[in-house]
Amino acid sequence: MSTKNIELVAEPRAPHFVGDGFRVHNFIPSGFRLDMERMSPFIMLDYNSKFYFPPTDTPRGVGVHPHRGFETVTIAYKGKVAHHDSSGGGGVIGEGGVQWMTAASGVLHKEYHEEEFSKAGGDFQMVQLWVNLPAKDKMSKPKYQALSAEEISIHELPDNSGTVEVIAGKYKDTKGSASTFTPVHMMNAKLNKGGTADFSFPENFNTCLLVIEGSITVNGTEQVPTDNFVLFETEGETFTVSASEDAVVLVLSGEPINEPIAAQGPFVMNTRQELMQAINDFNMGKFGYLE
Ligand code: MN
Repeated sequence: MSTKNIELVAEPRAPHFVGDGFRVHNFIPSGFRLDMERMSPFIMLDYNSKFYFPPTDTPRGVGVHPHRGFETVTIAYKGKVAHHDSSGGGGVIGEGGVQWMTAASGVLHKEYHEEEFSKAGGDFQMVQLWVNLPAKDKMSKPKYQALSAEEISIHELPDNSGTVEVIAGKYKDTKGSASTFTPVHMMNAKLNKGGTADFSFPENFNTCLLVIEGSITVNGTEQVPTDNFVLFETEGETFTVSASEDAVVLVLSGEPINEPIAAQGPFVMNTRQELMQAINDFNMGKFGYLE
């Protein structure tokens, strides 16, 4: 096993609003080497760093919009998100919870701050990831996996280092709770000050992390502060994360889907023609109806 070194550390770029409820720093796909091909299967990562939203009677969020060809994964760290979709699904993602939505052949949905949270106001912190689907699954039936904090597998680290909450894939002998179409490892390491966790992923996987809380040291030498993103080299397999103070770190590793990508807005397909089809189908109302 050889060490996996850091390829680059990215600071959060200037935030922008998605609708009026999500104040996000975009990390993927961004110009500086974090493009969809390099990061595959992670084709989008928007991060709402901790941000205070004042009380309001009208929940903030993003209105009805379509998706086709991939999965959206929303991880709630602070605050609550309510969602509804055109297949009749809906629910609330609470703190520590994850919504894994397979848009696949197409859904319309909307994403809003949950009503009580909106009325009270408070800190809001969220990650939304898009995980690509292989060509053979892009037009499969849409589905949801709703994982509350209690449903996520927890791996206890030795020496009071903390825990690793495994959303998908595997950490050591602990299996993640969500099912995936291609090999994806997704986990939150919650480390106590002075705690360390080691990670090992196959060389050909694309691997990155985002520091959600606290600050960390990677491989014993590289210090990475809050809200910073780390891309690892593909070479090497193992790395360590140590907490300089209590820390929460989102760790992602996935097998790249080596297929052509044709992306436009909320549609990610393999060819230009499939993109045109998606836009047509959306305009023809084939994604269903949602108020
Ligand atoms: Mn969406």
